[in-house]
Amino acid sequence: MNVILLGAPGSGKGTQAQQLVEKYSIPQISTGDILRKALKDGTDLGKEAKKFMEAGQLVPDEVILGIIAERLQQNDCKKGAIFDGFPRTIQQADALNAILNKIGSQLDLTVSLEVPDEKIIKRLTSRRVCNNCGAVFNTVSNPPPAEGNCPSCKTGQIIQRSDDQESTIRSRLDVYHRQTKPLQDYYSGRGVLRMVDGDGSPQDIYTKLCRLLDDHLKESGGN
Ligand code: AMP
Repeated sequence: MNVILLGAPGSGKGTQAQQLVEKYSIPQISTGDILRKALKDGTDLGKEAKKFMEAGQLVPDEVILGIIAERLQQNDCKKGAIFDGFPRTIQQADALNAILNKIGSQLDLTVSLEVPDEKIIKRLTSRRVCNNCGAVFNTVSNPPPAEGNCPSCKTGQIIQRSDDQESTIRSRLDVYHRQTKPLQDYYSGRGVLRMVDGDGSPQDIYTKLCRLLDDHLKESGGN
């Protein structure tokens, strides 16, 4: 099963993807996480992506498509994936279709998590993440431990992402509205778009997502 989680930065895609991975036994593919790791490791990819990420702009499509093509060849993606933060442009969406066709697979659903911009800004300025495993916390609704390592992977440090500053968040939201939101029409035209109100508790949203995915699996005879 291939599922895209669409939605503005901070709409909860990463948090939901991490839970869906366990339930459906398919991996999360987060281009943002892959880029942040490359940045941390100081690879050529990281160096190339750095200035775009720090400015809240999109990394060029060809760079992202290289990452995806490579990632989808790995064995753990045989039964599908949860795409988190990809695709973000029409060109990326077209390329994903082509890659999936080529490997004899297809997109099942695109779920768009809808959260008003002002809520996004509040959420992102209070977001904290693990710099090793990507676990997500929030200083208001899900505070990380006051000290020590990440409770999830036990090794990472809890940090504020450098692009979670308010001015950068506004650029990222602007980019989302201009370049990524048009994907709603793109996927709606293909009959695979589902909208979910993302302005609720993570548990409620997770329940709604599972219902959508389970219904889809039943209808398509998948497992
Ligand atoms: P995210 O963690 O998904 O919010 O991504 C953080 C940053 O990585 C974005 O603001 C972009 O600079 C870059 N990025 C992640 N995914 C993509 C993508 N699919 N296309 C272009 N840039 C991306």
